[in-house]
Amino acid sequence: MRACSEMPYHIGVLLKLHLSEAGKRLVAVNDGAQRSVYNHLVACNNEIYHLKKTADFVPADRDRIAYLKSVTCNAAAIKNALPYLYGKDVDCQTVENGIRNYRTAWKNMKERHTGVPALHKKSAEQTWQTNCHYNAQSTGFSDGTVRFVDRHHIMLPKLGKVRCDGSPKIIDMLLSHNEGTRIGTVTIRRDAAGEYWVSLQISSETPFKQALPKTGRQCGIDLNLLDLANDSDGNAIENKRFRKVSEHRIEKQQRSLSRKAEAARQNGKKLADAKNYQKQRRKLAKTQRHIARQRDEYLNVISKRMVENQDLIAAENLKVRNLLKNHCLAKSISDAGWRTLLSLLQQKADMYGKTVILVSPQYTTQTCSHCGHVLKGKYMLPLSAREWTCPVCGTHHMRDQNAAQNILAKALIVTAGAALT
Ligand SMILES: [Zn+2]
Repeated sequence: MRACSEMPYHIGVLLKLHLSEAGKRLVAVNDGAQRSVYNHLVACNNEIYHLKKTADFVPADRDRIAYLKSVTCNAAAIKNALPYLYGKDVDCQTVENGIRNYRTAWKNMKERHTGVPALHKKSAEQTWQTNCHYNAQSTGFSDGTVRFVDRHHIMLPKLGKVRCDGSPKIIDMLLSHNEGTRIGTVTIRRDAAGEYWVSLQISSETPFKQALPKTGRQCGIDLNLLDLANDSDGNAIENKRFRKVSEHRIEKQQRSLSRKAEAARQNGKKLADAKNYQKQRRKLAKTQRHIARQRDEYLNVISKRMVENQDLIAAENLKVRNLLKNHCLAKSISDAGWRTLLSLLQQKADMYGKTVILVSPQYTTQTCSHCGHVLKGKYMLPLSAREWTCPVCGTHHMRDQNAAQNILAKALIVTAGAALT
C-alpha cells in the first residue's frame, strides 16, 4: 500500500471514546510526554539563540551551546535527556511527533506569521498524537495497529480495545471500504469539558462517496455579515449568529466562573483543586462546545445543499486571519464561520466530484457586473449602500448579488484559462 500522502482521497472521522480510569491516565501521561519533548526543544533553542550573541567572546557560552545542541540533535539524544520517555506507558512515537510539532510551529511562523514557537502550558485540554502502522503485506486498514474491531470498538496503541461512538452511517461506510484504505495520523483528545475523542485521518485509493449527478448550474457567493452569504442568483443564506444568541448565557457563566476563582484564591486553594471552580469551568466549556456544534451543523447542511445544487461554486479567497485583526468585527466574523464554510465547500466538492474556485475579492463590490465599470475614489460605494445604479450603463444592482456575479465571472475566466492550457 502507498503512503497516505500519495493517495488521492482523504476523509477525517471523529469518534467519541469511552475510556476506563486507566485509559484516561494513559492519555494524560502521553499528553505530558509529548508536551515535554516540544517544550524541551523550545527551551534549548531559545537558550542557544541568546547565547549566540556572546559566544564569540565567552568560552563557557560556547561549551553550553555545544551541550544544548547535543541534547536536541536527534530523537535518541532527546530521549536520553528526558529519561521518563523510556517509561512503559509512553507511546513509542512521542519523540518523533514532538519533533514534528516543533518543526510545524516554525513552518507556521514563516508561512502564516503565527509568532515564534513558545512553551506550551498544561491545560484542561489534552492531546496525544500517534500514528497507525502497517506491515509490508497489508492490503487494507483492518491490518493496522489502529483498526475497527466492530461497529462499536476500536483498537488503539497502548489503550487496547476501546468502546467508541460515531455516526453509524460513516462507520458502516468505512467498514465496507477496507481494501486500499489506510489510517494515517490518529489524535486522541480530551476536550475542555472532560470528554474523550479520537480523530482519524483516513486515505484511500478509491473515492469514499459516489460523485453527485451534474446539474449544469454554477453560482458565485459573496460572504457577508448581514446575511451569511448571497449568491449570484439573488438568494440569501441566513447568518444565524449562534454565539450572539447565547451571549447572555456565556457572560453569566463567565461571571460565575471568575467569582469562583476569587473564592478559591481567598481560601488559599489552587484552581486545579478548587471543585466549584472546576465544575463551573466544565459547564462553560460545554456551552461553548454546544455553540460550536450548532454552527458546524448549520454550515455542513448549507454547504452540502450548495454542492448538491451547483456544479461550480465561486467564492472570495478571504484572508480571515487579517480580517480578525479588526476588533470591532472579529467577534461577528468568527461567529459567522466564513473560513469553515469555505473549507467545508472545498472538502465536499472534492468528495462529490464538483468544483470550488476561490478568487481574489478585489473590486468585486465596486464593479458593475453588466458593463464592467469600476467605481473609484469618491464614487466608491460606502458599506451602508445596499443597492446602486451604474453611472455608465444605468443598470440597477443589489450590492451583494452584483458582487457574487463578479466573483462568478472571475472564476469562469480562471476555468477558461485552465481549459486552454
Ligand atoms: Zn454598468
